[in-house]
Amino acid sequence: MKVATSISELELARSELPAGITPPVIAYVPTMGALHDGHLSLVRLARGIADVVIMSIFVNPLQFGPNEDYAKYPRTLERDLKKAKKAGVDLVFAPTVAEIYPAGRQVSVRAGAIGDVLEGAFRPGHFDGVLTVVLKLLNIVRPSVAIFGRKDAQQLACIRRMVRDLNVDVDIVGAPIVREEDGLAMSSRNRFLSPTERISALVLNASLRAAAQESSPAAALAAAERLLAVAIEAGEIDLDYISVVNGTTMMPLPDDYTGPGLAVVAARVGTTRLIDNTELVFPEPDVAEPATVPVPQPPLMP
Ligand code: AMP
Repeated sequence: MKVATSISELELARSELPAGITPPVIAYVPTMGALHDGHLSLVRLARGIADVVIMSIFVNPLQFGPNEDYAKYPRTLERDLKKAKKAGVDLVFAPTVAEIYPAGRQVSVRAGAIGDVLEGAFRPGHFDGVLTVVLKLLNIVRPSVAIFGRKDAQQLACIRRMVRDLNVDVDIVGAPIVREEDGLAMSSRNRFLSPTERISALVLNASLRAAAQESSPAAALAAAERLLAVAIEAGEIDLDYISVVNGTTMMPLPDDYTGPGLAVVAARVGTTRLIDNTELVFPEPDVAEPATVPVPQPPLMP
């Protein structure tokens, strides 16, 4: 596995890729490192569809707010490189901040309305930062396919929207959420949870599973809220939002909606902020049973 820490090294490594009769299919997995099985599942997916797998490891300062955990975000490059190699990555791009954001940079991407709701409402500018770095990295790596986890559902929706609105020449693939055995979605931030917080965090996934049992958006929301309320009252979590939305626009679903939807949740457990989501399907209401025709009763005998 090769490692490039600058754009010129990446270009060189890219030019040395084995050239067949047709150009190799390059799949790209962007990450911020602190790799876990969720990231590695993206690599496995990439391996299955491409000749060459490129991963980036870059903690993007642009997507962190001033009071967020940029400084504290786990950086474990040596361990990550071992895991990436074992998972079958061909080339890791691990640039410095100065390489990606040289002094004098001015232009950036605005996510628009899709980036203002949910995560965007709690993390203003977050998706502008995500889209700016993703567009830059796509332009640097020039893959044919880029793979993102559905764990970050709004991020995936924003990226799909950017690719569509800005005619970016790449196929975006969404990969399933990888969870711990007890349901907690894998995240680089889970390591910050104390053993008690780790247990409290399970209510996020439990609330989503409760929502998935229901057959309308309002009922799904109410079911999730019932469980979350108990944890909030016990002081175990601070809820940022729970919502049932359209997974493409991230806008709330009306109550008479039928079809696929997404339940999304974000909460702080201690000082660690966690997000999770699950896909839901709201079925068409059953076609009304034909009214039973009353059986004529024999006249009562006098
Ligand atoms: P991050 O390093 O957190 O920026 O994540 C890099 C990529 O891995 C993103 O596309 C995430 O959505 C994806 N990812 C992170 N955690 C998971 C998970 N538990 N399951 C699937 N994908 C994940």
